[in-house]
Amino acid sequence: MHPTGAGWGDRLPDLSFSSKPLAWMRKIMNLQFTQEEQEFQKTIRAWMRKNIPEEISRISALGEMPEKSQQQRWEKRLGKQGWLAVTWPEQYGGPGWTATQRYLFDLERAMAGAPPVSPFGVAMVGPVIYTFGSAQQKERWLPGIASGETLWCQGYSEPNAGSDLASLKTRAERKRDHYLVNGQKIWTTQAHWADMMFCLVRTDPDAKKQQGISFLLIDMNTPGIEVRPIYTIDGHHHLNEVYFTDVKVPLDNLVGKEGMGWTIAKFLLTHERTTIAGVADSHYALARMKRAIDEAPYYIDKQQARRRVAELEVELTALEYTNFRTVAATDEGRPFGPESSGLKIKGTELQQKMSQAMVEMGGLMSLVWDSSSAVGNESFNHSPRRYNFLRACTIYGGSNEIQKNVLAKMLLGL
Ligand SMILES: Cc1cc2nc3c(=O)[nH]c(=O)nc-3n(C[C@H](O)[C@H](O)[C@H](O)COP(=O)(O)OP(=O)(O)OC[C@H]3O[C@@H](n4cnc5c(N)ncnc54)[C@H](O)[C@@H]3O)c2cc1C
Repeated sequence: MHPTGAGWGDRLPDLSFSSKPLAWMRKIMNLQFTQEEQEFQKTIRAWMRKNIPEEISRISALGEMPEKSQQQRWEKRLGKQGWLAVTWPEQYGGPGWTATQRYLFDLERAMAGAPPVSPFGVAMVGPVIYTFGSAQQKERWLPGIASGETLWCQGYSEPNAGSDLASLKTRAERKRDHYLVNGQKIWTTQAHWADMMFCLVRTDPDAKKQQGISFLLIDMNTPGIEVRPIYTIDGHHHLNEVYFTDVKVPLDNLVGKEGMGWTIAKFLLTHERTTIAGVADSHYALARMKRAIDEAPYYIDKQQARRRVAELEVELTALEYTNFRTVAATDEGRPFGPESSGLKIKGTELQQKMSQAMVEMGGLMSLVWDSSSAVGNESFNHSPRRYNFLRACTIYGGSNEIQKNVLAKMLLGL
């Protein structure tokens, strides 16, 4: 039977707190969801099953990523329901959920086989606009993000400014009624999909490097912008180089004040790192792995494979419990600090370990690149793409080495 056949959702493991591995934890910590939260979870589960297009859940079941049209169709569906910008305050289009409800929503979304929402609009530029933007900018940009109409990309990295982001050189000169932008960005995910880019530019080349940076919103259809593809080792086109030649950007598209870009960039990176941990999607990857082992032909050592899955599940549970600390802190209005770096490091390491386990368990089945020449089991056949893509997850969103520096500074004062 194909892993995405009808009833796939019905046979997923129960991730509520009645599941066995977590039962003992309940005895020593109060981790029971309330009756209301359990009802909420049921409602979300039922909606997801009814609303996720089958072509999308099939792609997810293979560990692949959707095309632009598929991703946008799904995001618009969430937007119509008012469930796209789930982290936003209600006044800007959020549903007014608690952090626990958002956690449950994300878990049900992942377990039903829906892809994560593209982070650039909802998780990144949206919070920047409602926190630092003018009334006019909020009115102009937030509705399109919350409905899934406008797609964004992130123009931070440059060829010589990655970890050392403050060295960025893309220049925005202030003219009478516009900024004139010249320079280059690189590794820009989904720039070829995006309507808009939020971009760090240098407005004052003479100021101290962090202080000369500003945050601009740039329409990707403006003359002078050229997007060139970068094909990655998984065989896909996610990334791009973006060149700016005398690109005119209206003065109104500056967020905050000139020179405030660094403050905004730091604010935004914290948002980026908590989502990168990917707990919900790792639960889904684990469920896929279990399923693939169950359905694999006799030539994999199932007992050994299951032992490996158990080890990964223990690690995922530990990560999830750390994640709960940020969920609880958010619900109680407490700030969370270094946890986001810790979550990024452990979450991405685990994603890599899981994809590696999948490839190794699949053995010869993992040498097949896609399902056009499928042997044995489709999930194993697709696993090398996922494995290759996930080599990058310890780099993007600020490399894990940089996160370790952040932790050392915040926790040890080094
Ligand atoms: C798949 C993918 C998607 C991406 N998407 C985007 C995007 O949409 N928008 C965007 O702006 N950027 C994006 N990036 C870029 C990403 O943010 C950078 O690759 C990352 O910040 C690292 O910068 P770099 O590539 O210039 O490497 P470098 O900064 O040159 O680092 C090279 C190596 O040196 C290490 N290193 C550097 N400095 C230190 C230090 N101080 N201490 C210890 N080790 C250090 C790094 O950890 C790394 O291992 C993406 C990258 C990838 C791989």
